[in-house]
Amino acid sequence: MGWIELGLSIGRLHYLHKEKRIMAEFMELEGQDGVRMAWNVVPGTKEEASNCVVPVSAIYTPIKPFPNMSVLPYAPLRCRNCRSVLNPFSIVDFAAKIWICPFCFQRNHFPAHYASISDENLPAELFPQYTTIEYQSTGEASSVPFVFMFVVDTNIIEEEMAFLKSALSQSISLLPDNSLVGLITFGTLVHVHELGFGTIPKTYVLKGSKDISKDQLLEQMNFFLIKPKPPTGVVAGARDGLSSESIARFLLPASDCEFTLNSILDELQKDPWAIPADQRASRCTGTALSVAASLLGACVPGSGARILSFVGGPSTEGPGAIVSKNLSEPIRSHKDLDKDSAPNYHKAVKFYEGLAKQLVIQGHVLDLFACALDQVGVAELKVAVERTGGLVVLAESFGHSVFKDSLRRVFRLEDKELGLSSNGIFEINCSKDIKVQGILGPCASLEKKGPLCSDTIVGQGSTSAWKMCGLDQATSICLIFDIVKKEIPDAMLQSSNNQFYFQFLTYYQHSTGEMRLRVTSLSRRWVAGPGSIQDLIAGFDQEAAAVVMARLVSFKMETEAEFDPIRWLDKALIHMCSRFGDYQKDSPSTFSLSPRLSIFPQFMFHLRRSQFVQVFNNSPDETAYFRMILNRENVANSVVMIQPSLISYSFQSAPEPALLDVAAIAADRILLLDSYFTIVIFHGSTIAQWRKAGYHNQPEHQAFAQLLQAPKDDADAIIKERFPVPRLVICDQHGSQARFLLAKLNPSATYNSDGHHPGGDIIFTDDVSFEVFLDHLQRLAVQ
Ligand SMILES: [Zn+2]
Repeated sequence: MGWIELGLSIGRLHYLHKEKRIMAEFMELEGQDGVRMAWNVVPGTKEEASNCVVPVSAIYTPIKPFPNMSVLPYAPLRCRNCRSVLNPFSIVDFAAKIWICPFCFQRNHFPAHYASISDENLPAELFPQYTTIEYQSTGEASSVPFVFMFVVDTNIIEEEMAFLKSALSQSISLLPDNSLVGLITFGTLVHVHELGFGTIPKTYVLKGSKDISKDQLLEQMNFFLIKPKPPTGVVAGARDGLSSESIARFLLPASDCEFTLNSILDELQKDPWAIPADQRASRCTGTALSVAASLLGACVPGSGARILSFVGGPSTEGPGAIVSKNLSEPIRSHKDLDKDSAPNYHKAVKFYEGLAKQLVIQGHVLDLFACALDQVGVAELKVAVERTGGLVVLAESFGHSVFKDSLRRVFRLEDKELGLSSNGIFEINCSKDIKVQGILGPCASLEKKGPLCSDTIVGQGSTSAWKMCGLDQATSICLIFDIVKKEIPDAMLQSSNNQFYFQFLTYYQHSTGEMRLRVTSLSRRWVAGPGSIQDLIAGFDQEAAAVVMARLVSFKMETEAEFDPIRWLDKALIHMCSRFGDYQKDSPSTFSLSPRLSIFPQFMFHLRRSQFVQVFNNSPDETAYFRMILNRENVANSVVMIQPSLISYSFQSAPEPALLDVAAIAADRILLLDSYFTIVIFHGSTIAQWRKAGYHNQPEHQAFAQLLQAPKDDADAIIKERFPVPRLVICDQHGSQARFLLAKLNPSATYNSDGHHPGGDIIFTDDVSFEVFLDHLQRLAVQ
């Protein structure tokens, strides 16, 4: 198979037939367990694993919905040695009523209520197809209400304020009646609104310039004036000596406070302090969030609560400020961060790390809705949002559909709901030759150290348990493993049962309120020694591998000084190709790759050019945003972020996938580009002329009207399924917005290459094209 054939664009429906079939295998596995592994046949030794370049890894969606999954109404049976849960890979001796744990080989007796077990009478958890199963908590279903604390920026212009008020008031009307709601507003000062005060609205005003501890806060808000009552259990978290009356001053059931909240919102004024012309608005985002966290920590520790923060500009006051008020000081850029010349950056990040720690201990989530033309500090806040599993939405304005529609989706309880869940704990068990380096994704280490933990740490590591304060049906974490076995005796190589086992346990509060335990148990064959290359290739999931590399390269860029991402990716790819390619040494023309690896170079080419690696085209806030979404999405969505999909619409044929190349542009075509964050509908120049002439409104040009409509319908279908809602750009060839398409296309025809075809377009860039890239790759791989 030659490179030309490999150069096909992929993404939605874009695979060659053979490649599509291979991907279908992996998607089927994902459809059963919510897992995609880069290596589905696992390199068996440390050395083999390191030669495989892409680490042994898994992208796992812990609470992916499976309509046919069994939910068992009893407690799981656990191995008395390693605490792993009974699963289809356990070896069962029906006569002796014993099961052997596949992780530690411990023999466990079945308890009395499993007495009737036989090979014809299996409990559900032993059914071979139930590798993923859920256990319902045996206690009573918790009726603990969910808590939403709104933290709202008021130092924004009137127009933005109006947009925000209307969005908030709409979301309040969508809240479940029994959920508890609180409100904090901020600008120069922090205002904590007492919603339960009755007719006269009352607020506590706190200084924004200074961080305030939880105890100081409680004292200032007269929490102890009312004599604490023993906990009644009526209101969640009536502990900590706080009476439910105290709590009810600030957190009220949504059904009781809708009127009060709406009237407070109506009255909300823009921050009254005058802003001098050479100054930025005074905005104490950090203090406001810290007050929100402490209030929730006092009122509802340990039960599901979210801080929904709405920020309309840069934080300039108090802890967490990202820039001074003086407009002559610009907000930090990537260049400043690179040179370590952003004076507030490290201080602010440290502050938000502290906030993250507090929220993780309390089990609470920070969601960030950042809507401004300026940067607001997403890069600094990232740690608190990501460790708590919060949602993040970045838009230019509170009036933009990216914000408005995304916010609505958070609360909407239709079938496309996010399935927000809380209080998650994720734990793993593995065969003893595997260790865990860590997780890249929205979670926080619970610092449970043990024999499972690798010395090499990636992301949240040095633990085998993680807190997931917030998670939803799409949340996907990336586990990076280590193979520790040094060598394998020949006798073992011949054995037919060379299996590694993995078990993922997720405890979480289901959106119905009850506690659930999801158990996914996996088995993967390992190989070692000569002849194992074909087996490894057969199990290689190139999509999953590309996504793991994208998360890894982003992580390294953030944490390793002097890290060169392009060099690192190129080295990895060359190493992969020279190990797994077919070629005669020093003869580039003989080089070929199995279809199981053939798209991987293309993914790496696009990853090198993506927003995750080429950060200088974006602000630090945008980069942080893109990476937070990458770090929580599943493989299919992440692939679109790395390599956008392109569909072409024309009179000549049905809609079809097009090469992600500038050659796809033609005057009589419409292109639909999906780059995940942005969806572009691009009208070729002739199409645009016809549209401007209004042909689609004339009855004799119905076919043209349909051609115009088709990409719109397809775009709507994508937008409906995605969170955050993507930005939609509709543009014409040669128009200024066309850059949204051009930036994503392979520059096969640039101003320094000749012979671009008529009606087409050229890209002004010095980037290498895919063809040049492949050419280099082949030459280096065969050396
Ligand atoms: Zn065990």
